[in-house]
Amino acid sequence: MQHKYDVLVVGAGGAGLMAALYAAKGDVSVAVLSKLYPTRSHTGAAQGGVGAALGNIAEDHWEWHMFDTVKGGDYLTDQDAAEVFSKDVIEAVYELEHMGLPFSRTPEGKIAQRKFGGHTREYGKGTVERSCYAKDRTGHMILQTLYQQNVKAGTTFFNEFHVLDLIIEDGRCAGVIAYEYSTGTIHTFHAKAVILAAGGYGRIFKITSNALTLTGDLMSIYYRKGLPLEDMEFYQFHPTGLTKLGILITEGVRGEGGILRNESGERFMERYAPTVKDLAPRDMVSRAIITEIREGRGVGPDKDAIYIDLTHLPRETIENKLSEITDLARTYLGIDPVTDLVPIQPTAHYAMGGIPTTLDGECIANDQGDLIAGLYAAGEQACVSLHGANRLGTNSLGDLIVFGRRSGVNAAKFAKTVEYPPLPQGAEAGAVQLVKGLKDATGTENAAQIRKELQESMMNNVGIFRNGPDMEKQVGIIRNLKARYANVHLVDDSERYNSELIETLELGFMLDCAEAMTASALNRTESRGAHDREDFHSRNDEEWLKHTLAYQGENGAVRIGYKSVSLKGQTLSFEPKPRVY
Ligand SMILES: Cc1cc2nc3c(=O)[nH]c(=O)nc-3n(C[C@H](O)[C@H](O)[C@H](O)COP(=O)(O)OP(=O)(O)OC[C@H]3O[C@@H](n4cnc5c(N)ncnc54)[C@H](O)[C@@H]3O)c2cc1C
Repeated sequence: MQHKYDVLVVGAGGAGLMAALYAAKGDVSVAVLSKLYPTRSHTGAAQGGVGAALGNIAEDHWEWHMFDTVKGGDYLTDQDAAEVFSKDVIEAVYELEHMGLPFSRTPEGKIAQRKFGGHTREYGKGTVERSCYAKDRTGHMILQTLYQQNVKAGTTFFNEFHVLDLIIEDGRCAGVIAYEYSTGTIHTFHAKAVILAAGGYGRIFKITSNALTLTGDLMSIYYRKGLPLEDMEFYQFHPTGLTKLGILITEGVRGEGGILRNESGERFMERYAPTVKDLAPRDMVSRAIITEIREGRGVGPDKDAIYIDLTHLPRETIENKLSEITDLARTYLGIDPVTDLVPIQPTAHYAMGGIPTTLDGECIANDQGDLIAGLYAAGEQACVSLHGANRLGTNSLGDLIVFGRRSGVNAAKFAKTVEYPPLPQGAEAGAVQLVKGLKDATGTENAAQIRKELQESMMNNVGIFRNGPDMEKQVGIIRNLKARYANVHLVDDSERYNSELIETLELGFMLDCAEAMTASALNRTESRGAHDREDFHSRNDEEWLKHTLAYQGENGAVRIGYKSVSLKGQTLSFEPKPRVY
């Protein structure tokens, strides 16, 4: 079946819905394809808030926010992106407010703000309230608000449509190919412009805060076309996931005054980050937790967790401002944060890297910076390199609304100036073959087993602390898992809602993302932000102040290229300095 729209958006999370809304405002026909119902996208799980220097509680300025973003990213952040972001996110938050987003309020009725890790006043002098929140359900509210606005704007939704391929010919994108869950049929979507906003890929790790569907599909599809993925080695572990489960306990908990404690009850972050303590950036806190555990100061039956202590906070703060996480701790661990310490562990959380884009959301095709005409990307799956080597909490929701909007505006502008590109003959052949190949396969391997081995080995070999020998081993493991994947066998041959088929397709995408991550991490012989190498302990600006571009090569080889870091904003810039908190 064929469809035709001026602008197509893949993904209905915060980035996709913001992009679709602004494309629709540009007076073009817009459709959104999503493998989930839009309001089930992972954006809905975001608890803590969206960072913007509104200054509603204490003095704040976009310049301070830009500085924190650059410093938090360990100077790999592109400073032009950080400047655009820190300025634009203020307006974007007010825009959400005017669309009806029910933010929590100060007593005077302004948008309420709270502290978050790495966000400071006066260039690092102390913490500042910058995160705008709606209780601990901020992402849920963003998603509902943007979905309603899209319905109003007349955006067409294709829900439970799984994109399997991009149509790109001669450097021009002409649409996408998707598989419809309810019928098992393949659809061709012809478009003038396509915006990719398909989210992250935390599911390649065993312990993760990410939803089951975050499998890096579009990153892999991009990579399979010989196009680069940027900075895949930088993957953030959030310090506080519920022990063993990985379910997120928002940093807002520490923003409200929660304290991390080791076995002896010590507030150990005082030793690692004397100024900001528990509110140091996530990479530092995650490493501190793992160091405490490794040195025998962990808690729980396996001594592999740490406590977060809220018991000194008023019951009202916990039950009212942190109702979601209180509910999660009570439901999943049978622990009441009002009276008990909650055991936590770091959990795989956020991809700093992804599809490289310009500030306008255009996708970058190679080391020379050539673009793919008509193709845009935004959100967690994109890398405009706002987050550099480590993202600050609350900067992802801001990224979605700022760069989602820019992609939507620019895609619509582009679509208005061009004709439909020709649709290549047999554009759907690759996707048809992908599905048929899996359904007809007569191999002996089980996809669930391969996935389990991938998740466990990534956790062990490319997790919070990394070293050369373990990552070399992981390269071999992934190669072997890929070979086994080619020999997989499905038991379910149904046409409708074949979840085994879908999960097996997703596993193929995950293997590619893991391959690009491991190769990029092995190649970068320094420690920076979330990428911490035991065998190369320091940051090395002389050799490594550059972005990685990973390209899929022949037979599991990965070719590495580079892209320079933009060290200047439009008006401000910050010299790389060692990080001290
Ligand atoms: C538990 C949790 C809490 C968080 N809290 C915060 C916070 O407080 N503040 C903050 O700034 N950040 C937070 N983050 C990070 C932030 O929420 C995410 O980075 C962000 O929501 C990602 O949004 P997105 O629009 O890029 O993708 P998502 O919201 O993940 O949406 C992805 C979309 O892509 C679609 N899709 C994927 N693959 C396909 C395909 N092959 N075909 C069709 N559709 C596809 C899905 O259906 C979905 O609609 C949190 C993340 C998690 C996991």
